[in-house]
Amino acid sequence: SIHVAERVRRIKPSPSSSAADRANQLKREGRSIVSLVVGEPDFDTPAHIREAAAKAMNAGATRYTALPGTVELRQAIAAKLKRENGLDYDITEIIVGNGAKSVIYTALAATLEPGDEVIVPAPYWVSYPDMVLACDGTPVAVACTEDEGFKLTAQKLESAITPKTRWLILNSPSNPTGATYSIEAYKALAAVLARHPHVLVMTDDIYEHIRFEGGTAPHLLNAAPELRERTLAVNGVSKTYAMTGFRIGWAAGPRELIRALDTLTSQSAGNSCSVSQAAAAAALNGDQSFVAESLATYRERRDAIAAGINAIPGLSCRLPEGAFYLFVNCAGLIGKRTPDGKVLATDNDVVLYLLERVGVAVVAGTAYGLSPYFRLSIATSIEILNDGLARIAKAVGDLA
Ligand code: PLP
Repeated sequence: SIHVAERVRRIKPSPSSSAADRANQLKREGRSIVSLVVGEPDFDTPAHIREAAAKAMNAGATRYTALPGTVELRQAIAAKLKRENGLDYDITEIIVGNGAKSVIYTALAATLEPGDEVIVPAPYWVSYPDMVLACDGTPVAVACTEDEGFKLTAQKLESAITPKTRWLILNSPSNPTGATYSIEAYKALAAVLARHPHVLVMTDDIYEHIRFEGGTAPHLLNAAPELRERTLAVNGVSKTYAMTGFRIGWAAGPRELIRALDTLTSQSAGNSCSVSQAAAAAALNGDQSFVAESLATYRERRDAIAAGINAIPGLSCRLPEGAFYLFVNCAGLIGKRTPDGKVLATDNDVVLYLLERVGVAVVAGTAYGLSPYFRLSIATSIEILNDGLARIAKAVGDLA
């Protein structure tokens, strides 16, 4: 049998992928399934971006590029950071990678020593703790309750920091809750960080444009510019421009840190796809109307489906400030009995019940580090969402 390294054995495959796999399996078996699992826009990539990709390919952009990304793309990213975020970065302070996911992994691999701690506010994107584990670090999950708006408080941050803390990861708007930090909230966290200069901060800004108040979400560095020398700002085109398959993400940060990421990338992934880089540059430099249009659609779905969920006895959800998920509180279903006589004891039980009884696939809160909840993606059509909602209402109505 094959020896699999300890660093792989200590992690688990992404639970949203497993939930999607299970839903697809049931579909293949002929069941009618409403999958509200995936976290990718259901829109097509805008035409001008697809055309830029085709044009680049036909013009010979089919070779290796500069390792940290083409100058053109890094210039587009620098211009975007200035225009949208009010942040100044030179192209030598930017690295492009195969999606934000791979950039985050590289950053952790480039900085973590065995046993280094990474503070991950929960509910968190499922990949953070596993990436930290794969890089021999120790994830330190800090539960942020619904009463706290699912946001890290200054007090909780202060108590989580130890001499071994290497990183704090902030994701605003958040997957799975949509929680979005205000400038004031960031200032409170920055005041704590000021007392702990050894802590680096990674901001995962991938949902910054999917923000229902409108406008780009505030950035930590807008609130606390003094943190620039220890902040890595991660972002990408996947969510904003419906470009998940292009696999382009980036990080902007202090040159010394970017240089370490360049070194590791040069001996691991190499440069990102040349055609995708051209498409990403076109997305950043081109017409931005898709961003507002898709946001309006997400907002309609959010309002309708959140209202529908809140009308189901035993379920509730706050209106997310951003991203495209509802994080549904299912505490009211715990302890109820299914028609088969099973008692729902956990959010995993609730999720299994919804799948088996009415064919609705969602992901249990436990995967994101906070229970009892489930995450429902609104990145799918309103017809499918309404079907899902009606099925959930039916399943809940069948409980005793
Ligand atoms: N960060 C968060 C919070 C996400 O939800 C996702 C995608 O699900 C990513 C990063 C990954 O984005 P990319 O497609 O750029 O790798």
